[in-house]
Order: sequence, then structure tokens, then C-alpha cells
Amino acid sequence: MIDKRGLQRRDARNRYGGELPSTFEGPGFASLAAQVHETMDAMAGLFPDSLGLYVSIPFCRSKCTYCNFASGVHPASEHSRYVDQLIDEMHEAGDWAKGLGLELVRRIDTIYLGGGTPSLLEPELIARLFGAIRAQFAVDGDAEITVECAPGQLSDETLGALVAAGVNRVSLGVQSFVDREAKSSGRLHSRTRVLDDLRRLREAGVGRINVDLIAGLAGQTLATWEESISVLIDCGVPHASIYMLEVDEDSRLGREMLAGGARYFAELVPSDDTIAGMYESAIERLDAVGLKQYEISNFARPGSESRHNLRYWQRRSYLGIGLDASSMLREKGQEADASGKPYVLRSTNTDDLKRYLDGDFGRGTAWLSPERQHEEAWFLGLRMNAGVEPQSLRSEFGDPLVERALESAARLADDGLLLRNGETIRMTAKGRLLSNDVFQEFLENSLQEYSATGR
Ligand code: SF4
Repeated sequence: MIDKRGLQRRDARNRYGGELPSTFEGPGFASLAAQVHETMDAMAGLFPDSLGLYVSIPFCRSKCTYCNFASGVHPASEHSRYVDQLIDEMHEAGDWAKGLGLELVRRIDTIYLGGGTPSLLEPELIARLFGAIRAQFAVDGDAEITVECAPGQLSDETLGALVAAGVNRVSLGVQSFVDREAKSSGRLHSRTRVLDDLRRLREAGVGRINVDLIAGLAGQTLATWEESISVLIDCGVPHASIYMLEVDEDSRLGREMLAGGARYFAELVPSDDTIAGMYESAIERLDAVGLKQYEISNFARPGSESRHNLRYWQRRSYLGIGLDASSMLREKGQEADASGKPYVLRSTNTDDLKRYLDGDFGRGTAWLSPERQHEEAWFLGLRMNAGVEPQSLRSEFGDPLVERALESAARLADDGLLLRNGETIRMTAKGRLLSNDVFQEFLENSLQEYSATGR
């Protein structure tokens, strides 16, 4: 699964009815030296000395039943035109940013090709794309370079081209190791094929592998879910993403769930309670084998966390190119001041492939108000198990906003959704299942929405 919007697309959702104790404590007091240290650490992570680059590749071999992303089945003849446009967009990015008063940082330390199915790109297009990236930007020697692959859709030639281009991490969209579940959701692979791809990746030197699974596929039961988790564990991958199925009404499965029908097996989608049970079981079992949860949907062995996705949750700058790709760019060294002048830009490209292929990137651009950024600091920070340190937000946003958020945090703690540990506020297990309720509480504090009219 890709995350082109900077937010994971399937969350732990409102599926939990149980009660957990609230253990929120009142605000504590760190020593002045500790406060200064924390603030400097936090701000050092925000200043845009490096960029993450996201590249959207919207081509798929078939359309999954639950998918409503801007991806589709398109003729291979469009791949080359599309890569040409990606390269044009990269060339223009510096001028585009300059026109908005921002300097585009050239140093890149993470690259993520998502989609879609980037492994469908022909080897020569992969070489051309990465050649252009390296010509346009200064890519760190130890940059994390991830490519999403669909099992069974990664030829030896493409794998060779990816490795030659410096790709060192692969995310495999497995979703289920039970063949009939994968098939009923529109995937084209079998378990055997996935295991073979894992072997080929390792033989090619790519050991940093993520496996995506989805809890809640049509026909899935608790027993088959446990089977998928067992196979995932046996694979020995260092990273896993566990998503709870979120059926969007724009997907084929979603339309069938609303209107009825049997083509996409809508009637076989498990209940919310069953899906919540699957998610909780996965957390427990993955933890037991050293795959620690570090974000609502993400699990890793220590040191194998996705550096690119951490960038989103830590509000560090990234440039997104391609169809429906988003960017978040910060003005260097800026933070909130009394003027309330926005210093963070969010932009999203068109999701119309024809328009993009015609050279119109259709960027929708908005400056984020400090209030909006402050909200994001909370709901992105709370996604991570590391949580939020309110003290570190005070220097960027000032006391009034942070105090108001702390009132929200206290209410959520009373409901057992948040937990305060010293200077850190985290979501509880119940909070992760009800994460949208948690995020909503912080969004309701908004004084100002996006400022689309400039600064
Ligand atoms: S492979 Fe991913 S992007 Fe393509 S249809 Fe399936 S879920 Fe959507």
C-alpha cells in the first residue's frame, strides 16, 4: 500500500466497544535544560535540510475490489509518456517552489515509488526515471529507496533494473496469504508466488522487505487471518503493515455493499468486531516475534522502520510528483510567530491521468495556518507509538494552542483513548482502534482552515 497523502489510508477505526482504564496524569514539569534540549531536537527534525521524494506510478494490472485510488489498468504505451511527464515535473519543481517563495532543498534521503504498481514499469523506464532523479537531486549514499511491488508482477529484468538503480527496500502488497481471499479481492497472486518473490528479492540483495496484509477481506475468518499472520512471521521480513479494511463507497466492493449484489463478495466481509479482533491479535503476535508496532498500521524490527513514512508523521518536508501526489514543504528555519504567517505549504496534483499526460500537473496549493499545523502535529504524532511531547510543540506554536489541545487530550484520556507517561502523550490500544475519534477531537479545535489565498 502506498501513502501518497502523507497519511496511512486504512486506520484502526471505530471498531472497539470495550473499556480500558484512563490513566492520564496532569501536566508534568521538565527541567529547563531538558525542555531546551527536547525543543532543539524536535526543531532539528523539522528544518528542511533534506527532502523525501514520493513518485506516484498509477498503473495496475487489475483493479482490486476495495480500491478507490487514482490508479487503473492502462496500456503499456502510456508508461513512457507518463515517465516523461514525471521528469518534466521534477525539472519544474524548483521554479514552482521559487514562485511560491520557497527554496526547494536538493538533498534527498528517502525515495518512495508507490502507486499503483511501480514494478510494472519497464526496466528502461526505471533506469530513465532514476537517472533523472539523480541528475536533478543530490541523493544521499545511504538513502532509503523503496518501491512497491505486486507479488507475481516483478520480472527478473525489472528487479535487476531496480537494484541497479539503488533500490534497497521493497514493499509487497500481499494482503492475504490465503489464495482464495487474495483472488476474491482482485489480486492475481498465490502464496507460492509471494514466497518465491521473497526468495528472489533476497537473492538480489534486497533484504529490507515490507509485507502488507489487510484484515477484513471478503471471506476472511479469524482462522484464515491467523494463518496469514503465521506465514508472514515465518517469512522473517523485518517490516509489516497491517491495515483494517476500510470500504470506500467509490470502490466496487463499496458500491456492492451499498446497493447489494454478489459479484465482489460484499456479503462475506467480516463484521467490525471480527476485524478489530484480527488487528488486536496481529499486534500481539507480531510483538512476540520482535515486530514492534511503531505506528497505527506499521510494525518493524528495531532499526527497520520506514524512514520515508516516518517523515510524514514527523512533519518533515517531502516532494510528491506524479498523479494525485502530495507535497509538504516548509520554509527554511521558520516557525509560528505572532503574525500568524503560514510557513508550510501543502500541494496535491491532479488525479486526472489524461490531464497529467498532457503536461498539466493540476497542482492544488494551500498554505497551512499555524492552527492547522498544530492540529496535524497532534494527529500525526499520535499515530506513532512514540506519541507527542507537548513541551516540544510550545516553541513552535505557543502556549495557548498547546493548552487547548491538552484540554482535548485530558477529555480523551478520561475516555481511555490517550495515556500520559511523563512528558509524552500516547494513544492507548483502545485509542488506536478508535483513532478517527481521537483525531476528530483535535480537528474540532481548528480556528482556521487552509489558507488558499496565500500568506
Ligand atoms: S494494486 Fe493497489 S493501487 Fe492497484 S488496484 Fe490494487 S489496491 Fe489499488
